Amino acid sequence: MATLFTRIINGEIPAEIVYQDEHCVAFKDINPQAPVHILIVTRQEIPGLADLPEDGDHKFLLNAAKKIAEQMGLAGGYRLVINQGLDAGQTVDHLHVHLLGGRPMNWPPG
Ligand code: AMP
Repeated sequence: MATLFTRIINGEIPAEIVYQDEHCVAFKDINPQAPVHILIVTRQEIPGLADLPEDGDHKFLLNAAKKIAEQMGLAGGYRLVINQGLDAGQTVDHLHVHLLGGRPMNWPPG
């Protein structure tokens, strides 16, 4: 069965898409934790970072994040987050990067 994010990518569930390329699609998080909160989702259904093949070329995720941050005007900075597994609070088992910005970020994240 397709994941929630694949259904968004396929247009079956609405989302505000802000970027896409051959490897990933990015859309606004439905429950934003910052003024800018974008999810960058792999087109391929990979459950999480722990399942990412080590021999693949995955720089597209960082390149997409950089481009979207520029597009969103986040010149002051931003944060990228990948929640992997239960301890990190991952709720959707489809690899995605959170791009958060538009407010100061605390460190440590808690
Ligand atoms: P994670 O907890 O890291 O797996 O992140 C999953 C994210 O998906 C959460 O921040 C949710 O708010 C977000 N989310 C869940 N359903 C949707 C949806 N239909 N459209 C956009 N974002 C969603």
